[in-house]
Amino acid sequence: MIPVVALVGRPNVGKSTLFNRLTRTRDALVADFPGLTRDRKYGRAFLSGYEFIVVDTGGIDGSEEGIETKMAEQSLAAIEEADVVLFITDARAGMTSADLALAQHLRSREKTTFVVANKVDGIDGDSACAEFWSLGLGNVYQMAAAQGRGVTTMIEHSLAPYAEAMGIERDTELDTPEKVLEFTEEEAEEEQKRLQDLPIKLAIIGKPNVGKSTLTNRVLGEDRVVVYDEPGTTRDSIYIPLSREDREYVIIDTAGVRRRSKVNETVEKFSVIKTLKAVEDANVVLLVVDAREGISEQDLGLLGFVLNAGRALVIAVNKWDGMSNDDREFVKKELDRRLGFIDFARIHFISALHGTGVGHLYESIEEAYDSATRRVSTSMLTRVMQMSQDDHQPPMVNGRRVKLKYAHAGGYNPPIVVVHGNQVNKLPDSYKRYMMNYFRRSLKVVGTPIQLRFHESA
Ligand code: GDP
Ligand code: GDP
Repeated sequence: MIPVVALVGRPNVGKSTLFNRLTRTRDALVADFPGLTRDRKYGRAFLSGYEFIVVDTGGIDGSEEGIETKMAEQSLAAIEEADVVLFITDARAGMTSADLALAQHLRSREKTTFVVANKVDGIDGDSACAEFWSLGLGNVYQMAAAQGRGVTTMIEHSLAPYAEAMGIERDTELDTPEKVLEFTEEEAEEEQKRLQDLPIKLAIIGKPNVGKSTLTNRVLGEDRVVVYDEPGTTRDSIYIPLSREDREYVIIDTAGVRRRSKVNETVEKFSVIKTLKAVEDANVVLLVVDAREGISEQDLGLLGFVLNAGRALVIAVNKWDGMSNDDREFVKKELDRRLGFIDFARIHFISALHGTGVGHLYESIEEAYDSATRRVSTSMLTRVMQMSQDDHQPPMVNGRRVKLKYAHAGGYNPPIVVVHGNQVNKLPDSYKRYMMNYFRRSLKVVGTPIQLRFHESA
């Protein structure tokens, strides 16, 4: 269960500044995630021992017209889906009628809301913030997002009660890059055993209308569905157990095809947050794209999140039926051009409507899962590392050659390889990429990203 934190407030109060700060606390794992609208951004953040999804809702100030009203509706939808709302105000500008209107809305929704007065740098924070108490939403947190002041405290205070209520454990080392190094070989092995005994959690994701429901129904219709639970809230995916030729699966249905209809039908079927949560919870992600529309920014946004989360990935290019050969050639070229950077994922051309190619998806899904959870011994990893070093020496740093000593497994799904040696933290990115590709090729890892971590050893 990963908490969702929404940033709401008038335009110009500092939401993007805060968003950027929160999502860049750990560069290696985080990238901006453009959502469905230009004005909503989604990111993954690690701070204060918590991992969470942060949503910048764009600005609302209550006076929207036309297209702006649509945007405001989107922001309100994001509020509905959030676990915790950070209501950002501007301590310098003082309280406005828009703040009051927003506060009233939040109170009526009974959302867990924290008022944050931003831009307290260089002013008397206490007196500037006093008036925000009258919003009736409790404590007012002081922050200077631009300097990073007050950010950690605010996150700690706003997330701790929610996390405790949900039984989410705080992991105080989550935001320190060394964390993984305490993931010993033995722990990695335990994790691998655990993963191999569990069903494969497969999330079927994609933007609206690409054919997720059609595909999910087909997948469920052709095999034996055991039972499925009623979902808690409309923003949750449905988890459907499925047995198929000796392999157990849990399909994470983001399209909501098995949702009983009496649940609020007016809620948008597609939800970015629902999708992100499904990705976080899955072992393997099946990303569905529409052959007739090509790869859009939205597809790339979803893809970015899958890569960020380190999930195994299979891509299904749907609606392949009834297309001319010319069109098919064109689409394939387009895919090469736009998806060339994820060379590890298998791509399938399918028709969910007719069932063509759907059966073969399982081969790639299982291959990806097996790659993501396959145990590789320390001796094997060290040998491959040695070979990569022999084939192409690491560069000199400060007049000394970087020396790689040994490698071991540091986790699975995604597979993490921890490389020990001298000055390894100074290796240039190009060499790290070279090593990663070397590991991938030598160990025949298909369908999952690999993460390399480096550990300085004497
Ligand atoms: P948004 O429209 O709510 O996303 O606001 P932005 O993040 O774009 O910030 C609006 C303006 O406020 C920018 O010029 C920021 O540089 C400035 N700003 C943001 N945070 C702070 C802060 O902590 N202190 C000061 N003095 N300015 C800030
Ligand atoms: P979702 O929003 O991603 O769940 O998409 P749906 O499954 O509801 O499908 C959207 C539309 O695309 C529907 O009209 C489907 O009948 C159609 N569709 C889905 N899969 C295919 C396919 O393989 N070929 C064709 N031609 N149409 C499809």
